[in-house]
Amino acid sequence: CIMSRTDQTLDSGALDGIGAREPILKIRDLVKEFPIRAGVFRRQVGAVQAVSGVNLDLFQHETLGVVGESGCGKSTLGRSLLRLVEPTSGTVMFGTEDVTLASKGRLRELRRDLQMVFQDPYASLNPRLPIRDIVSEPMVIHGVPKKEARQRVGDLLERVGLLAEHGNRYPHEFSGGQRQRIGIARSLALRPKVIVLDEPVSALDVSIQAQVLNLLDEIQDEYDLSFIFIAHDLSVVRHTSDRVAVMYLGRIAEVANKDSLYDNPAHPYTQSLLSAVPVADPRRERSRTRIILQGDVPSPANPPSGCRFHPRCPVAQDKCKTDTPGLVEIATGHQVSCHFPLQAGETLLERVKELGREAQVSTKN
Ligand code: SF4
Repeated sequence: CIMSRTDQTLDSGALDGIGAREPILKIRDLVKEFPIRAGVFRRQVGAVQAVSGVNLDLFQHETLGVVGESGCGKSTLGRSLLRLVEPTSGTVMFGTEDVTLASKGRLRELRRDLQMVFQDPYASLNPRLPIRDIVSEPMVIHGVPKKEARQRVGDLLERVGLLAEHGNRYPHEFSGGQRQRIGIARSLALRPKVIVLDEPVSALDVSIQAQVLNLLDEIQDEYDLSFIFIAHDLSVVRHTSDRVAVMYLGRIAEVANKDSLYDNPAHPYTQSLLSAVPVADPRRERSRTRIILQGDVPSPANPPSGCRFHPRCPVAQDKCKTDTPGLVEIATGHQVSCHFPLQAGETLLERVKELGREAQVSTKN
C-alpha cells in the first residue's frame, strides 16, 4: 500500500491522515524551468515551466504512479528528483537531507539509494560495453572491488531472469524486454531504497510488459523498495500503483488511492483521460463514452492563467480563467485541484449537460 501526498498548496488539513510515518522522500514546491534563449547573445527570453510547484511524499515500500499526457512534466519531475536535471527551486528531502543542496561528491553517494530506470533500455545501456561492465559500473564507481562486483553481476542477472553468462554479451544481442531486465539489474546493483521508473514498459510488447511488471513487483518486496512509477498509460498504472497522481502542464490535477481515483475521478481532466481507457467488461466497454478534449495541451512556455486546464475543460467557468485552484481534500487521501470538482458518481458528461453545453464524445473507441 502506498501513502503519498501531492499538493500545490499544502493546507494543514491536507496533511492529516498520513499518520505518524515519515516519508522516505519528501518533495516540496519543486519547480523546474528550462530557459528559452534567442538571438546572437543567447539572451533568455522566456522559460518552459516543466514542473510548477509540486509537493509529494513517498513512503517506504509504496508505489506512487505519476500519469499524464506527453509534455505534462512527469519525466522532468522524475529527473529533477535525482538531479539528472537541476531543479530551479524547491526541496527534495531524502530522510533528513535535502538532495537539491548536495555537493557533487555527496550526490554521487546519494545515488546509491536513489536510482532510475529509463524508458528506452537500449539508449541507457552503453552499446560498446559488455553487460557485466554495464551492470558492475555503479558498484565500481562506489568502490566495490572489481572481482566482487563481477561476482555480484552474475547474481543480479540471475535475479532479473537472465543467465550469469549473459554478462559476456553486448546490449544489441538482447531483446527489448531483456534489455529492460539489464537496466533493472543495474539499478539494483547498489541496493537502493528508491527507484524512479520512467515509463519502464512503454517501449515493450504487451506480453513482455506483464513479465517486467511482475519482476518489478517481486524485487520491490525482496529489496524493500519504494517506487515512483511514471507512465502515460492509465491501465499500467492501475496495475502497479498504490496511489496515483495525475499531472497536467507541470501541476498535480488529482491524487488519490488508486481505487478512489479510478472509481470516483473528481477532476474533469482525470475523467476524460479515464474515458479513453478500455474496460475489461465487454458490455460496459460497448457503452463506454469517450470524451474528446478540444485542442492540444498548451505550451508550458506560456501556460494558461488560472486553472491551466481551463481552455480545454468542457465544464470551465469564469473563475477558472483567473483563479488558480489549490489541491483540496475531498475524501480521505483524495485531493483534487479544481474549483468545481465532480461529485462521487457524477460523470463529466452529466455536468456538461447540466451546464447546457456540449462535449465532443465518441462511443467508437
Ligand atoms: Fe475545469 Fe475549472 Fe475545474 Fe479547471 S478549475 S478543471 S477549468 S472546472
